[in-house]
Amino acid sequence: MQLHHRYATELADTVSAVKPQPLSEMSMPMYNRELAAQFELPDSDALMSAIFDEGGELATNAVAQKYGGHQFGQWNPFLGDGRGLLLGEVSDDQGTSFDLHLKGAGQTPYSRHADGRAVLRSTLREYIASEALHHLRIPTSRALCLMTSEQSIVRELPEPGAMMIRMAPSHIRFGHFEFYYHNKQQDTLDKLMQYTLTHHFPECLQDANPHKALLTAITLRTARMVALWQAYGFVHGVMNTDNMSIHGITFDYGPYAFIEHFQSDAVFNHSDYEGRYAFDRQPGIALWNLNALAYAFSGHLNTDDIRACLTLFEPTFLSQYHHQMLSRIGLEDNAENEPCLNTWLSLLNAEKRDYTQSFRQLIMTDPQQESVPLRDQFVDRNAFDNWWQDYRQRRLAAGVANDALYPLNPLVIPRTHYLQSAIDAAEQGDFGPAHKLMEAIRQPFDDNEITREYSQPGAASSQGSLSCS
Ligand code: AMP
Ligand code: MG
Ligand code: MG
Repeated sequence: MQLHHRYATELADTVSAVKPQPLSEMSMPMYNRELAAQFELPDSDALMSAIFDEGGELATNAVAQKYGGHQFGQWNPFLGDGRGLLLGEVSDDQGTSFDLHLKGAGQTPYSRHADGRAVLRSTLREYIASEALHHLRIPTSRALCLMTSEQSIVRELPEPGAMMIRMAPSHIRFGHFEFYYHNKQQDTLDKLMQYTLTHHFPECLQDANPHKALLTAITLRTARMVALWQAYGFVHGVMNTDNMSIHGITFDYGPYAFIEHFQSDAVFNHSDYEGRYAFDRQPGIALWNLNALAYAFSGHLNTDDIRACLTLFEPTFLSQYHHQMLSRIGLEDNAENEPCLNTWLSLLNAEKRDYTQSFRQLIMTDPQQESVPLRDQFVDRNAFDNWWQDYRQRRLAAGVANDALYPLNPLVIPRTHYLQSAIDAAEQGDFGPAHKLMEAIRQPFDDNEITREYSQPGAASSQGSLSCS
């Protein structure tokens, strides 16, 4: 394994050296072979020794990154990797560089009196969800492995402690730029900008105004990511600016959920009292966050340039969202079809139908038929019938076969009740259900025995509120 320390070396002012602190009797019950193979990483035993043994290659130069962030709208300069460490970077055979980031490895200078640890419940939720989004083709960090331990961590109650390694092109957050801007560390901010351009957005260096090109690229990527969240019913739950990746990838999984019975203003984070991060507020919050990021660019860009970048968000989000949604239901991507899409969503919302399952059932229904069994799923048959007549004419005009829509409408999403069963078993030392769920997660669009087994909505009560931990 060829490990680099590019970030730690070139941006030495922004990190603190920290050694990973093992938990007692660790083992690695989950290891992502496919991802490991892409980067020619060692097998699970060798990986553990590289991190935790004396002189282990991965432990030697581990660092905690310093950043700030807007949490629920309030600026907080006291953030940073409080329980995460950047182990270093690895490249695949295409030369693509990815961070190895260890979560739950003990206290750092940014732990703010917290324990620097992560519980099995939250690491398993991140592991499964990040892989689920990847297989749904939604940009995301990846999960390389999960390590468990005999050691308990105290949250509301004692829970098994765990760690995981995630991979991402970098762990640079909106909050990195904000911190060095608000802290008036102009030199460090310049270095961070230059580092980001050189290593992650080299195409922007060709532009007459590289900083404008960079802010534009981050805006466009973020708009595309959120459009996919909205299209597939993903609620991130904590869209603080320290949880926003500059790469426009889904990042820092906490109290997330995929919407089951559809409710456009769904909130799952139990500390989000005001619904700031509700499903239907995510696009607006993404733009709010981009505004906070743009502020940190104000020493590098004039107001007109900043406005020009941010103005791209809304049309990009809307065109991506409509493209995704109209494609999912087999209609041409044009404005005349948008009311038909909106009525479908209103029907699902009014009757709290299962979001993912409803799309799948819809695209398995023959648009040649005037009356279809799907109508029996709706209490308001009249409303459904009216919509169906309109929709099926549009479908027939578009001429898209049902089969062509399967790869856009998953059977499997990581539903809260399946995650919870996998967690319950894992907490008893049985990772069988987690592995089985992962098998379904890796082929979400296929229809077979395993995916069908993981396609069922939970009871309405199964999607209660969730904590970060
Ligand atoms: P999060 O809400 O997980 O995005 O975390 C917000 C901030 O709190 C980040 O700076 C984290 O590193 C820090 N943090 C969260 N949990 C812990 C913990 N158990 N120990 C130390 N720091 C933590
Ligand atoms: Mg975070
Ligand atoms: Mg977190």
